[in-house]
Amino acid sequence: MNPVPMFDYRTQLATMRGEIDAAIARVLDSGVLVLGEEGKRFEQAFAHWLGGGHAVGVNSGTDALAIAMTAMGVGPGDEVVTVPNTAVPTVSAIRMVGATPVFVDVDPATALMDLTKVRARLTSRTKLVVPVHLYGNVVDVPALQDLLRGSSVRVLEDCAQCQGARLRGRHAGTFGDAAAFSFYPTKNLGAYGDGGLCFTRDAELAEQMRRIRMYGFAGAYYAEREGVNSRLDEIQAAILSVKLQRLDGWVARRREIACRYEGGLPATAVRVQAGPGVSHGYHLLVVRVQDRDRVRTALAQHGVMTGIHYPTPIHLMRGYSFLGLGAGHAPAAEQLAREVMSLPMYPELSDADVDRVCAAVRESV
Ligand SMILES: *Cc1c(COP(=O)(O)O)cnc(C)c1O
Repeated sequence: MNPVPMFDYRTQLATMRGEIDAAIARVLDSGVLVLGEEGKRFEQAFAHWLGGGHAVGVNSGTDALAIAMTAMGVGPGDEVVTVPNTAVPTVSAIRMVGATPVFVDVDPATALMDLTKVRARLTSRTKLVVPVHLYGNVVDVPALQDLLRGSSVRVLEDCAQCQGARLRGRHAGTFGDAAAFSFYPTKNLGAYGDGGLCFTRDAELAEQMRRIRMYGFAGAYYAEREGVNSRLDEIQAAILSVKLQRLDGWVARRREIACRYEGGLPATAVRVQAGPGVSHGYHLLVVRVQDRDRVRTALAQHGVMTGIHYPTPIHLMRGYSFLGLGAGHAPAAEQLAREVMSLPMYPELSDADVDRVCAAVRESV
């Protein structure tokens, strides 16, 4: 039997090949490859899909985080509170702007930021909190904002993994002062290359994001402020416009698959739970198992590929040893890192494949 992979964009591409080829051809024939009509059209469509606001296309999710932070005035000397069980780029972005990451532990049931532990990590230098909507699960951002009320600390949502997820009916990414999305190929809405987007409802903040992505330009060849080069190119924007029309359907299929997994997996594969009021986006389907290495090897023998998101909490990585944080700084995140395992999850996965994975897991854990 064919192996069940973790990710393969080609099956999905085959379902819309004509439209994708036409979109690429349209850009090539247009004579404009960067910052043209396709980018604008996609930004408008994406902001509309989120329920209104301003979208600024950039080169990656990492850049979207860094540009949003710069636009919000976060820089050297500032502290940014986030979680250690995230993708490294969350922290890369904090360092790109010269700020210092401060880690708060997570709730072991949801793998999300433990809001009861945030206050203890706030100092006079705290400028920003970056909740990460890990796996497509959604942090209760309004509850976070409640506990920040009265301070000037702002919230930037890391939405790289949560396209299509909602909290109490509202899209993740629309609660904070700003949000950063990634269109890395594996994400729920993935480009065929790199891409990212800053989102905010604040027109002035959006204007700053627009300037920063283009050398700080306000007019032609005039830097109103310092900036970088980080743009979503026209070909990726045209591709994303085609794919955005299908995103809700794909997320609905991810939920169906999650439901089928729920029915087929044994209790020994402990589910990472959605928070209350969350419509999960299921970027990843993550369970916790004992003796993970053995289980993964057994699954691979059944042709079932798995992943680990993520094997090492960031505060324990050599690249971040300069922060001086050791084991025990975030015990729940450290425990999750030993136990989490991601099962195949993408809209094109068939019911039969899900059943096969479940049977293999029942035999392996
Ligand atoms: C993928 C990801 C990013 C970074 O996105 P890129 O587009 O790869 O730069 C940031 N945060 C999280 C949580 C991610 O999963």
